[in-house]
Amino acid sequence: MGGEVRPPRGAGRLFAAPASDLTSHLATFGPVPDGPAASHLLDELQASGLQGRGGAAFPAWRKFAAAGSGRDPRSRGGAAVVVANGAEGEPRSAKDATLLRAAPHLVIDGLLLAGRTIGARELYLVTTAASLPYVARAIAERTDATAIRLREVPEAFLSGEASAVISSLEGGPALPRDKSRRLSSSGLAGRPTLLNNVETLAQVALIARFGAEWFRRLGTEEEPGTRLVTVSGSDLAPTVREVVGGMTVAAIVRAAGGSTDTLGAVLVGGYHGAWLPAERLDTPLTGHDLAPFGAAPGAGILVLLESASCGLKASAAIAGYLAAQSARQCGPCANGLPRMAEVLEKLAGGSRDTALPAEIRRLAALVTGRGSCHHPDGTTRLVLSALTVFSAEVKAHLAGGCLADRRARAGVAA
Ligand code: SF4
Repeated sequence: MGGEVRPPRGAGRLFAAPASDLTSHLATFGPVPDGPAASHLLDELQASGLQGRGGAAFPAWRKFAAAGSGRDPRSRGGAAVVVANGAEGEPRSAKDATLLRAAPHLVIDGLLLAGRTIGARELYLVTTAASLPYVARAIAERTDATAIRLREVPEAFLSGEASAVISSLEGGPALPRDKSRRLSSSGLAGRPTLLNNVETLAQVALIARFGAEWFRRLGTEEEPGTRLVTVSGSDLAPTVREVVGGMTVAAIVRAAGGSTDTLGAVLVGGYHGAWLPAERLDTPLTGHDLAPFGAAPGAGILVLLESASCGLKASAAIAGYLAAQSARQCGPCANGLPRMAEVLEKLAGGSRDTALPAEIRRLAALVTGRGSCHHPDGTTRLVLSALTVFSAEVKAHLAGGCLADRRARAGVAA
């Protein structure tokens, strides 16, 4: 592997090109390697340990292999399809939009390579209206990307969910549907479908050029390579950074220009994520290290909460937002999430009804695992995490006070 260009050194891999145009891209990374046979790229992906960057962290090579095994049109519903997912519905994530703006050619390379590897006849790149012009301009610059069909998806929390993307491509609403349906064997129009986040495909483009060994030169055994993160909250505007795998949450916050001095907690993994208390910000951003908190790196989203801000109020606001995002297709989700958000709002608002925490837990148990998609599970994860991490706040609220207000008054916060 490799070529005339030198592999990027340091953590700035995906953003190594000084500009987003094709000339700059080719000068930095070289052309799309046309050598590696499908099996060779799969081997490199497996050796690299690359996990999906859309949130589920599924091993990239497994997804490729699963969709590729359906290439025989006689065995499954026709020729395979590859979809690059740049929908990024999570409001606290900006990494996919940033990547598509700054390095669209890496994503296109990854999409082309994925198509070749699994023998796909159709290639789609889906993203929001804001990112479309950048991708369209990049596609127009090259002669090898004419097969890519660009599609717009609405900016909504659930529009990036895999089955919602497929539904949208089929002309339906960008809403989730049956999670038991396997895209690898029955995706778009019933055909084997490989759907990857755009960052995953950009990483594939780098691994195809420079190899698994190069990819693993940074990061840890569990979190090899680099990943994009979006840090926001407190006074920090959404900031995207490429960080080395296994960095601690505190180090990532500082790398994004934030301070950990006055933080009370960090929401890890976005609105479907879980809270990490301030005293544990030295936790590495890995699935293994975050598991005790019920958190995961997800799509690399960190939301900062000042110690002078009430974690219950912040969580109630997010739960209310999430409840409103329900596609209202499943009863437990449509009815249970608004009710759970309402009870959390009461607790956050100062109600002294001591039955509220138990009621939240009861509602969470009722909706968990009961949706056609993971929206109820993600929402209950956030809400239950709030009850655990902000347990002192819960007690204070039930006693008629608020610890965050007290801290703010005492001037603990900057
Ligand atoms: S679980 Fe909720 S968001 Fe998911 S499909 Fe059902 S109603 Fe829609």
